[in-house]
Amino acid sequence: MEIGSTLLRGNVCFNKINPLRSSDCWLPAACIIKARSAMDVALALLIVTTVHANFAVRSAGHNANSGFSSVGQQGVLLDLGEMNQITFNEDNSQAFIGPGSTWDEVYGALEAINLTVAGGRSGGVGVGGLILGGSLQSLFYCSFH
Ligand SMILES: Cc1cc2nc3c(=O)[nH]c(=O)nc-3n(C[C@H](O)[C@H](O)[C@H](O)COP(=O)(O)OP(=O)(O)OC[C@H]3O[C@@H](n4cnc5c(N)ncnc54)[C@H](O)[C@@H]3O)c2cc1C
Repeated sequence: MEIGSTLLRGNVCFNKINPLRSSDCWLPAACIIKARSAMDVALALLIVTTVHANFAVRSAGHNANSGFSSVGQQGVLLDLGEMNQITFNEDNSQAFIGPGSTWDEVYGALEAINLTVAGGRSGGVGVGGLILGGSLQSLFYCSFH
């Protein structure tokens, strides 16, 4: 059974997807699961909760608090960065945005159809974290930011 892509420390790709963005905020996980679908997330959560493993969830990892979207060497990081699809229904009245999308990706996709949304002011902030209670929402986002 395969769940997204799973990387253990020592894997050559491990540091590429877990760059040292911040030594305080991004603790080094023992294992990273990069989910690609809701089913991946469900399976990963089933496994980590069954074995009582420490785990953390990351959308874009912008939260500045240590351990919020990272977990130390005894834990599993569930990374949603590849769940970043942005699609629209037929008449563009509904958008379907993956939690791993960043706000610059969302603004870009909406701008292409002459729409926008009140989201994060800094483009690299993730949709998942901000929607669940992130801060600094910018009501009047403009492309100068
Ligand atoms: C340098 C910096 C600049 C910032 N600039 C801005 C800004 O311009 N505008 C703004 O609005 N905010 C800004 N913020 C704050 C930001 O909105 C919040 O930190 C937000 O939580 C980040 O969202 P994220 O998805 O990137 O974070 P993450 O760090 O990935 O997630 C934040 C929290 O939510 C949880 N979480 C994330 N996704 C999910 C999910 N799908 N399911 C369950 N739990 C989840 C994580 O476990 C973590 O606890 C900034 C923060 C920093 C550090």
